[in-house]
Amino acid sequence: MTLDFALDSLDGLSVGDALGAQFFVPGTSFAELCAGRPPAPPWEWTDDSEMACSVVTELRERGEIDRDALAAVFAERCEPYRGYGAGSVVVLHRIRDGVPWAVAAGEAFDGRGSWGNGAAMRVAPLGAFFAGDPDRAAAQAALSAEVTHRHPEAIAGAMAVAVAASHAAATREKDCPADDLLRAVEPYLIDGATADGVRRARALLGRSVAEAAYELGNGAGVSAQDTVPFTLWTAATFLHDYSAAITACVEAGGDADTTAAIVGGIVAAHTGPRGIPEQWLAAREPLPEWAEQWPPTLRIRPWTPADGQAVARWRYPGRSAVYDITEPPTGYTAVAAPDGTLLGFYCTGIEARVPGLAAVPGVTDLGVGLHPRWVGRGHGRAFAEAVLNSVRREHPDTAIRAVVQEWNARSRRFLENAGCAAISRHEARGIRYVVLSDRD
Ligand SMILES: [Mg+2]
Repeated sequence: MTLDFALDSLDGLSVGDALGAQFFVPGTSFAELCAGRPPAPPWEWTDDSEMACSVVTELRERGEIDRDALAAVFAERCEPYRGYGAGSVVVLHRIRDGVPWAVAAGEAFDGRGSWGNGAAMRVAPLGAFFAGDPDRAAAQAALSAEVTHRHPEAIAGAMAVAVAASHAAATREKDCPADDLLRAVEPYLIDGATADGVRRARALLGRSVAEAAYELGNGAGVSAQDTVPFTLWTAATFLHDYSAAITACVEAGGDADTTAAIVGGIVAAHTGPRGIPEQWLAAREPLPEWAEQWPPTLRIRPWTPADGQAVARWRYPGRSAVYDITEPPTGYTAVAAPDGTLLGFYCTGIEARVPGLAAVPGVTDLGVGLHPRWVGRGHGRAFAEAVLNSVRREHPDTAIRAVVQEWNARSRRFLENAGCAAISRHEARGIRYVVLSDRD
């Protein structure tokens, strides 16, 4: 289970949702988007993101889907103005009024249950959470679907999307040809119109977006069978190119916030956060606070092999990519949320020294890293304080020394906030550093 993958997928889903929804606003233009001029921010997200946030927070807290709990948070957090379908609002309001979800969802649409695309639109992060475990992704997706969508088409659609996202995440940083993604979904298809569509999607690989949308649907009918086949075709076709994938959803028209949410969730599970253009992520309205909460207290805990593997997957944007770590490190200390979720790390001693910098008696060298998801979101001071307090406890009566590359104003500010000041310069292998310390 990989919360990082789920959060990356959630970013991809919500950016796709928010950008797709912009194309229901008069004045937005597909030609402008293609020319690299997306709509002006902010882009508000819709029901797709609101429900996906609940799926992710449930997985974060429980590690699996508890249907009663999921139905309750869906109902409690539903803000109808976010573009929920009329049928969904009725089901969620009945659940909120105390009707069991099985009854509320089962009685929808004259007892046939909804086959809307609402179960598929929120499920990609769940698939990413179960990266490489398609059996679990499919089974958990079915549970997450049926609390609101009891028609087999809706459940089959959610399972197919989750399996695709699970495979997309498992093949991150590896090649995944379009046909492989759809082939991975095949064993999990449940016979029906959605499954027929997904099989047709495979035969249509290599055709144009317009042809695929014409043959498979574009979500205009807001059903699973009218949405899932095209989204899987699009995700498979553009698995390595997030912007192209979302642009294809906008080009196809129809229920573009939902098709882009599904496709964005699958593709970002594969590309990771660097796949999503920074400008797009910044334009998306922030996700709800309850979904992306920086914890009120931080916990320092011992490093585990899983932490090392997680850090080796972190990728920093732009110039900060020099801080990417490719081999799982050992001997670090974890800075975590109270529930144990890794937020960053620090290391001391030789691990923290750059080339050419000699150890000095009475000086503790310090290196820190914040999870790329949290960089630039205003949490540096709290993180720095937690790290510095811990290091001072571990190494009392020593000075703390840290180096940052000269261009890196953000890291320098981070250390200055923690009570360090520049004391000298250092240069090695053509890189210029500022040396900072908490003592003169
Ligand atoms: Mg929507």
